[in-house]
Amino acid sequence: MISRRALARVTRNATARSLSTRASAILSALDIPTNQEVPGVYDGTWGGSGDLLESVCPTTGEASPQELQTSLEKSREAYEVIRSVPAPRRGELLRQIREALAAKRDDLGALVSLEMGKIRTEGVGEVQEFVDIADYAVGLSRMMNGRVVASERPGHSILEVPNPLGVVAVLSAFNFPVAVYGWNLALSLAAGNATIWKPSHSTPLCSVAVTKIVANVLEKNGLPGAVAGLVIGGREAGEAVVESTLVDMVSFTGSENVGRQVGKVVQSRFGKVLLELGGNNASIIMPDADLDLAVPAVFFGAVGTAGQRCTSTRRLYLHRDIASEFLARLQKFYATLKPGDPLDSSTLLGPVHTRAAVGVYSNAVDRLRKAGADILRGGVPYGKNHLTEGLQGGNWVQPTIAVPVDVNVKDVIWKTETFAPILTVGVFDKLEEAIAWNNGVPQGLSSSLWTRDIRNVGKWIGPAGSDCGIVNVNVGTSGAEIGAAFGGNKSTGWGRESGGDAWKQYVRWSACTLNFSDEAPLAQGVSFASPA
Ligand code: NAD
Repeated sequence: MISRRALARVTRNATARSLSTRASAILSALDIPTNQEVPGVYDGTWGGSGDLLESVCPTTGEASPQELQTSLEKSREAYEVIRSVPAPRRGELLRQIREALAAKRDDLGALVSLEMGKIRTEGVGEVQEFVDIADYAVGLSRMMNGRVVASERPGHSILEVPNPLGVVAVLSAFNFPVAVYGWNLALSLAAGNATIWKPSHSTPLCSVAVTKIVANVLEKNGLPGAVAGLVIGGREAGEAVVESTLVDMVSFTGSENVGRQVGKVVQSRFGKVLLELGGNNASIIMPDADLDLAVPAVFFGAVGTAGQRCTSTRRLYLHRDIASEFLARLQKFYATLKPGDPLDSSTLLGPVHTRAAVGVYSNAVDRLRKAGADILRGGVPYGKNHLTEGLQGGNWVQPTIAVPVDVNVKDVIWKTETFAPILTVGVFDKLEEAIAWNNGVPQGLSSSLWTRDIRNVGKWIGPAGSDCGIVNVNVGTSGAEIGAAFGGNKSTGWGRESGGDAWKQYVRWSACTLNFSDEAPLAQGVSFASPA
């Protein structure tokens, strides 16, 4: 069954009544009705006819496989239109999308905050990321160059030509309900593809709001809306999209477990797949690090978005010489934390997204305790006495710092991504030991070294250094700019999105050998002369 409708009724939520009363203003600003069901499918027209689905703060619905099939077919038809629109004209569409997004940036950021639970500045920052990648893609639309390659045959030339790929399905995670789609849509549209978005079932209204903004631009320009289609749904909708041979590339962002299944299914039908999966990111602090910078960066990395970024700092490796001082200073930052309404500008700590995430957090802390870890801060969900009026119905966990008895990166404590604000700490003596710990886990997304010694930097970014896709120096693990390719290695999936050469995955490459001569020689001097 596919989610189809979003009911903009505010019933149950992470931060209860104080958010609910403000929801209607935010939803109205984004053209989402607050007193009726909201269609959750867009393929040029808005529709949907199934059961209702409830999301954390506002609410949504479900529908039928036939409607998904129709949307996919419309995406294919839309691809046949958009692929022939010249790339700089597609860039102009992206410029208009960028302008429309920027005009709604604050409202859309507030909706992210309301529905996902991250604090407002991070919600607005996420929309800004979409604006930034749209800017980037406007330029890219005039620079997606192929190559002319020297031919060994006289009078011949070889071209490497990028053409549009087809239909790109974007399956996204709950924690970046706007930006991940933005990274994909911008590159995919610049490249001349139709995109169909299957967002997380728990952030449907963000996807409806974004799709309305994009759809307005497409419709104003006389283009089929299915160039940027939407199907809201859960696992079944995701599976149907992934299995469909109408989809040329699946760009999947989510957990390692689901990504493993998605990768197999797409591979089994020889589709193209781009995987952006879990992170288990470490910061390493050398004795010469500037702690005035490093401590707040680790604090943001571990606690920002309530520990629900793929790049959140989950492991902290401290050199023995500064370990005590670092932990004392870090704990002072933790002591200032108060759970609060994420829409309030003074709040640093919002809720975790679901009730289930509270269970994941509690299980992980129990496991640490059983293994003899020292819990320096947190270790339990917030009790009602810590929560102000209106927050009691939400999903509140205390950011936790734990020091296990030793570092064994093969142990579940160290090797799994727990999507909650838990920071696990180890103490090392040599940089090589910390790099081995950094690299010893299955994931390879983000990593960060804090040092002022250029020799450490050389080791860290070189062949024997960090094996992650993001290898920072004096910058925390969490967050990234759009200019470089974003993604991780190993069980993070090897995918790259956003800047760098990421666009090259969204096109179909052809090697075209052209013969301008009066001869037809074979390559490598092969002779195949017929006696006739
Ligand atoms: P998830 O894997 O539960 O869901 C991701 C998406 O897959 C959702 O849209 C979901 O509906 C869909 N889905 C679920 N089962 C499916 C199936 N069998 N087939 C097809 N689709 C299916 O992830 P989540 O809990 O929403 O997000 C958190 C995870 O995402 C974390 O592991 C986080 O690290 C990761 N993430 C990674 C990046 C990155 O860039 N590497 C960015 C954001 C989030």
